[in-house]
Amino acid sequence: MDHCDVLIIGTGAVGSAAMYYLAERGVNVVGLDRFPVAHDKGSSHGQTRIIRLAYFEHPNYVPLLRRSYELWKDLEEKSGNQLYSETGIIQIGPTDGEIVTGVKASAQEHGLEIENLTASDVTSRYPGFMVPEGMEAVFEKRAGFLKVEQSIKAYIKLALNYGAELHTGVSVDNWKRSSSNGIEVTTNRGVFSADNLIITAGAWAKDLLRPLNLNLTVARKPLFWFESDRTYDIGAGCPAFFYETPQGSFYGFPSIDELGLKVAEHTSGDPVLDPLKVDRTLHKTDKAKIDGFIGSHLSKMHDPRMTDHKICMYTRSEDEHFIVDSIPGSPHVNFVAGLSGHGFKMASVLGEIMADLAINKSTNHPIDFLSSKRFIQ
Ligand SMILES: Cc1cc2nc3c(=O)[nH]c(=O)nc-3n(C[C@H](O)[C@H](O)[C@H](O)COP(=O)(O)OP(=O)(O)OC[C@H]3O[C@@H](n4cnc5c(N)ncnc54)[C@H](O)[C@@H]3O)c2cc1C
Repeated sequence: MDHCDVLIIGTGAVGSAAMYYLAERGVNVVGLDRFPVAHDKGSSHGQTRIIRLAYFEHPNYVPLLRRSYELWKDLEEKSGNQLYSETGIIQIGPTDGEIVTGVKASAQEHGLEIENLTASDVTSRYPGFMVPEGMEAVFEKRAGFLKVEQSIKAYIKLALNYGAELHTGVSVDNWKRSSSNGIEVTTNRGVFSADNLIITAGAWAKDLLRPLNLNLTVARKPLFWFESDRTYDIGAGCPAFFYETPQGSFYGFPSIDELGLKVAEHTSGDPVLDPLKVDRTLHKTDKAKIDGFIGSHLSKMHDPRMTDHKICMYTRSEDEHFIVDSIPGSPHVNFVAGLSGHGFKMASVLGEIMADLAINKSTNHPIDFLSSKRFIQ
């Protein structure tokens, strides 16, 4: 039986970062994953992910976001890859809606720079975007996107350089505490043992965290690319965008290559009972909703041709905030779950936190608000 200091189940976004921050600190770490590095079967594929600082979801995330920006920059330097592009983000919604009030609350609490834009400011600065009647726009300059697959590849490559071990094609069935106070993990390739376990299993977390009985729901999330006018090119200064509309929240990225503008819906999503069997065919209704959003909000997209699509998965916690914790009574077993469709931007700091918890059983990062205790009576 292979034994190591720390075993990681799931080397996607957070697991690959954890593997790197452990290996960098000289820890004997082994990662296990069912799929190859940067695969397209989980929640971390489709080219890009938005990163922003004035966080509408809750101001408590801002210190974690500040550290995430630092860590992504460090990863860029160490890997020699450009992973972050700063485009700014325009966020548009009702004046008293979740997004506009949330962005302003985070900006005020943490002294972040944002700009309120009138509808005519938006039309002259960003001519591809409409501000519907009764809506307001806020612009944040210190925002943009990260290259999702390239970031994971960079973490894995650097972790391996530091001596980490990675086993792909390994499906974990379950884990248990061993008689010697360690952890035993049973897989299709035999049993692995370790002093510490990190569970970063994305859409598959619920089963592996069975003792906690967390209410994690997985949703099928289509995303689309469309042929687009030059206005939406990154080179033309097009920002990332996020809209809160009566039909749901939608977001997108400037065109960075021949695929064109990328657009998706943040809200809703068909329930997925078995993430290994998620329906990857595109339904007419998937596209109809996006077409409806584009037609009424993106003024220079006229019945655009779809160039590509992908199906991805969100894993939502009950309150759509992350769950970052150890298993109660088992400080040797730590996990990240329920990233609820907004976790990639913080995969870097979450990886660092997992490394802290595995090594020190504590972290200086402010994560109390993400504890599983909020769900456990
Ligand atoms: C369409 C879409 C758009 C998004 N947009 C954004 C965005 O703009 N900004 C943002 O910050 N976030 C965004 N997110 C969310 C973000 O991408 C995810 O929260 C994050 O990437 C998930 O990382 P993870 O490490 O939890 O899961 P994953 O990266 O999916 O990793 C989990 C890994 O665990 C492995 N695994 C699981 N169970 C087992 C097992 N039993 N045995 C072996 N291996 C196992 C899987 O194979 C997988 O590799 C988006 C998500 C989607 C789907």
